Amino acid sequence: MPLVSILPELQRASGERWAVPLFDTADMEATEGMLAAAEERQAPCIIAMYSAQFGRPNARAQAQYIKVRAREAGVPISFMLDHGTSVEVCMQALVAGCTDIMYDGSSLSYEENVANTRIVVQAAHAVGVAVEAEIGHVGRASDYAEIGASRKGYTDPAIVERFVKDTGVDILAIAIGTAHGAYAKGITPQIDVDLLREIRSRVDLPLVMHGGTGSTEQQFRDVVANGISKINIATDLFLNAGAAVAAKAQEPNARYFDMTAAAQASFQARCSWYLDVFGTSGRAG
Ligand SMILES: [Zn+2]
Repeated sequence: MPLVSILPELQRASGERWAVPLFDTADMEATEGMLAAAEERQAPCIIAMYSAQFGRPNARAQAQYIKVRAREAGVPISFMLDHGTSVEVCMQALVAGCTDIMYDGSSLSYEENVANTRIVVQAAHAVGVAVEAEIGHVGRASDYAEIGASRKGYTDPAIVERFVKDTGVDILAIAIGTAHGAYAKGITPQIDVDLLREIRSRVDLPLVMHGGTGSTEQQFRDVVANGISKINIATDLFLNAGAAVAAKAQEPNARYFDMTAAAQASFQARCSWYLDVFGTSGRAG
């Protein structure tokens, strides 16, 4: 199965009420664990590099690695730019061979967000790449006490139709009560499923929930049942892999290779869990 744009899979998921995870990668262990999970579970999957990674000296080599391994996979794999912070980095991602890109203008004014998203959509569509944009703003989990209480950044359902029409975007990230990163101990996000339903009723394109780390299994099942068809996961994978490596390092005579193997096994196990919970397992082909 080739490296693909994930859009057809997302459209299928949206109609059938399951979801495709986006996993942010950082290195070979993470990428290999993600691919092993997708193949073992026979699931379509998105592997992403985030904006800052494209500015690093090894960005092109890392992109090549992901693409080569994705082409060798037996299931549909998308290579995506996560949270493109500028039009420029979106163009770099196109050149690097991303099959889908996200442009995130959610901290800008509506007009600036639309203007930049339109440029990215025009360029990406010219080369068969799908675009995700964000309306509303998914903030940081470390600020969640403030965000959750005031509903700061939550998507206004009244403007989603206009945003989709104004931008021509293919995939829409919305803010419904989650946040990026790790929540303070004891905090679980309060997800507004009624808001999700309201947005779902107004637009007909795949909807994305960012900040998946820290949501409960029941919350994942609820948002998928109510119209989320892509969920982004990063922090949880790296917290678990970090803990697995630290535990391995405590063992007597632990070798470097035992630790990299522990990292990869951790990525595979966590990714497999998400694929099962999101209903992605068994959906390939
Ligand atoms: Zn995100």
